[in-house]
Amino acid sequence: MTQQWKTVNVLGIPFSKMDMTETTQWITKRLHTLRTDMAHTHHIVTANPEIVMFTTRDAELKRIVQDADLVTPDGTGIVWAANHLGDPVPERVAGYDMLHQVCQTSQEKPFSVYILGANEEVNRKAAEKIRALYPQIDVVGRKNGYYHPDDEEAIVRQINAAKPDLLLVALGCPRQEQWIAKYKETLQAKVAIGVGGSLDVLAGEVKRAPVLWQKLRLEWLHRLLSQPSRWKRQLDLPRFVLKVRKAKNSEK
Ligand code: UDP
Repeated sequence: MTQQWKTVNVLGIPFSKMDMTETTQWITKRLHTLRTDMAHTHHIVTANPEIVMFTTRDAELKRIVQDADLVTPDGTGIVWAANHLGDPVPERVAGYDMLHQVCQTSQEKPFSVYILGANEEVNRKAAEKIRALYPQIDVVGRKNGYYHPDDEEAIVRQINAAKPDLLLVALGCPRQEQWIAKYKETLQAKVAIGVGGSLDVLAGEVKRAPVLWQKLRLEWLHRLLSQPSRWKRQLDLPRFVLKVRKAKNSEK
């Protein structure tokens, strides 16, 4: 990956040091470049500490995230880690906020989107919401994320026939990252983003933490309280802190 912006290495993952505005500009520039002028679909990972912890246990996933075109610091845990390592990022670039920022630019420069993933109701509602909030965006196709594996090639063909500028993939982590990496050479989309639970929030099925909680850096606690089944995954948060501390100490 040849890149012009600075990154900070957190447990082997190169996080972009661009702020939200620069990140949005980086993405929209690619949304308006001809696909034929690109070697492959640009893969964006919005990575939180949970994803980083997955990569410490799965070398193939680590390679996928390292090879992505852009990895944004999604989560106060990443902002803390960069700070702790003495190489801070300007701010958190959360996937959900980034998605809205990118969509907002459609008012000046329209683009098209294909929505893959989440259950049928969430997928449909998310498409309706995007159409309602951002009428300049052309939703050229959508497909829920609970399809039979045998149908996958046909779905890729469907996406390629629709030729979206932006492809949103919500299949959960790490499946969405693996999915984009598998098809990024053949996809006709310009940019593909793994958006995790963002479609559920967009569709109104899952509530995001109130702004005050976000400011107090307690979004993880809100998520745990509203989706208690995630507690096992969230055990990775203290493990992440310990690993970053250890990485810092081994530098000394
Ligand atoms: N999802 C999907 N197909 C699957 C598994 C998950 O479409 O086989 C969707 C799920 O409905 C949700 C999104 O992926 O909309 C994110 O799932 P989850 O919150 O479990 O994953 P995370 O982003 O936290 O890894």
